[in-house]
Amino acid sequence: MIDLGNRVSIYQPDQDGLIFPEEPSFNSPEALRLDRKKRLVAACRAFAKHGLDFGFAGHLTVRDPEHPELYWTNPMAVHFSQVKLSNLILVDHDGRVIEGDYAVNRAGFVLHAAVHEMHPDIVSMCHAHTEYGVAFASLGIPLAPITQDASCFYEDHVVIREDAGHVAVEEDAGTRVAKAFTGVKAAIHQNHGLLTASRHSIDSCAWWFIALERACRQQLMVEATGRKPVEVPPESARYSREHVGSDYIGWLHFQPIYTELQESQPDMFD
Ligand SMILES: [Zn+2]
Repeated sequence: MIDLGNRVSIYQPDQDGLIFPEEPSFNSPEALRLDRKKRLVAACRAFAKHGLDFGFAGHLTVRDPEHPELYWTNPMAVHFSQVKLSNLILVDHDGRVIEGDYAVNRAGFVLHAAVHEMHPDIVSMCHAHTEYGVAFASLGIPLAPITQDASCFYEDHVVIREDAGHVAVEEDAGTRVAKAFTGVKAAIHQNHGLLTASRHSIDSCAWWFIALERACRQQLMVEATGRKPVEVPPESARYSREHVGSDYIGWLHFQPIYTELQESQPDMFD
């Protein structure tokens, strides 16, 4: 489930004994659950800081470690900046709230449930109606590898055209969207928005969502100049994806965000 491939290889050679983020390990499902919930809250707060909110749209999910058919997610109609440990909800495949006081965005959640159900390896999913991601999604094209950062998504995302722009679709489109998530970490749903999935952690999933939104913005900015950007050659884009586009690297990118939020927003663990 956790990719070990790129760990340490690029960023930590010959640095034994120096401070470097380490993935936590837990000896009970309760402790792992609490950690996943804390990181889910932090991911929501990070989405708020990056302006990824749009009304009540947007949901982030992470599997419960003990009951993998259940998912922790953000409560309906609570701003990402106000999500905290005590208002998270636990939801089943059918969108029923098993634990927690708040309702779930059921139509949106069904999309997540379909992906989680079809892919037991997917631990976490993120989806939101973001400014640049939604705009980019109207083009119905994949992200181009115009930077090293964008190359992280090269041949690792899909454009889903089924049910594009049909507002009430998320329920019906769940299965079709789910099929698209085979072996990739991200999807651009035409006329709708961005989705990311992680086989590793909510940390990684949230980071790649933030990175994908940024890459969409940068491609739109560059193309708005009227000049065609130079693309990274395919073999170099693949090299970047393999070495700096993994779930572990996504997790690593999220650690400074998590640490900063722990200190600046202690109410998130209320
Ligand atoms: Zn949506």
